[in-house]
Amino acid sequence: MNKKFFEILQDKSFMFFGSYATGVIDNYVITITHTQYSNYSVLFSTEINDSVDLKKVKSDFKQQYGKKLELTKANNQLGASYVFSKRNDTEHFSEFVNEIISAFKNNDVRPSTNCFVCNQSSIDSLCIDNDRFKFVHEVCAKQQITDNIDVISSRKTSYLLGTVGAFLGMIIGILPSVLTILLAETIYSVLFMIIPVSIIYFYKIFKGKLGLYSLIVTIIMSLVSVVFMQYLVIVLVFMEMGTSISDSFALCNMLYMNLEGIIEIITSSGSEYTFLVIGLFFTWQTISASHKGEVNNQKNISKSIISWKIN
Ligand SMILES: [Zn+2]
Repeated sequence: MNKKFFEILQDKSFMFFGSYATGVIDNYVITITHTQYSNYSVLFSTEINDSVDLKKVKSDFKQQYGKKLELTKANNQLGASYVFSKRNDTEHFSEFVNEIISAFKNNDVRPSTNCFVCNQSSIDSLCIDNDRFKFVHEVCAKQQITDNIDVISSRKTSYLLGTVGAFLGMIIGILPSVLTILLAETIYSVLFMIIPVSIIYFYKIFKGKLGLYSLIVTIIMSLVSVVFMQYLVIVLVFMEMGTSISDSFALCNMLYMNLEGIIEIITSSGSEYTFLVIGLFFTWQTISASHKGEVNNQKNISKSIISWKIN
């Protein structure tokens, strides 16, 4: 966060949490997040009913900032987001906040002062929910986090179903390669990237448990795919030499369906592996960002609980 902006926020008693800054002005909870290119997005937690005219809110606010203000309505909440795109903008932060709050007040956009979990009053804390700080009862926030962790942990997963899904994913993943081999009579190594991604995608759809096992399954099935594809190419070569389909398969089985043959196939498939590894890299990211990441997210939310009383 740029130093000047940090000082302005500090002056307004904003609190800092990771990449977020949050503060309360006239009971409107404001969350500031650092976006790309040193911009800042400013979010307000508000409450509205259907009679609120968003266009009017915007036009009341237009003169200076209107164009860069985005209002999004979801349920009875109005998200107002504004991106400070110039460094100088941050100096006008107080002015900006005062203007938008008066535009809110003129148009019956009230601050959202109830607990976002139980919707009751007398809140005692602030906590992150969907990337913005909101008022909450500490008990409610903690209960929700515990519930979420329970849901994540009790999600029914199965190795067997996952493996079935992975197998299906493998079949679908090799289809583009099989088709290009049959129709264009050539192997496009780049298509091998799809295979591990497709395997893990279907493994997940079939509720397979993510972890080391899923990685091993993906690697084994990816290798099997390469061997199968090379096998298919060799069969085609025999067929082109005038051998019948059944004889081509028989010949191929005789030559390659033994340990030496498979090793020869594996060692002759250099570029396919390069793309396979790229695909595995994306797959690995999916696997590692799974379960543990979700639980840690919830734990981080619990760290974001800040005591707060509404005056
Ligand atoms: Zn509550």
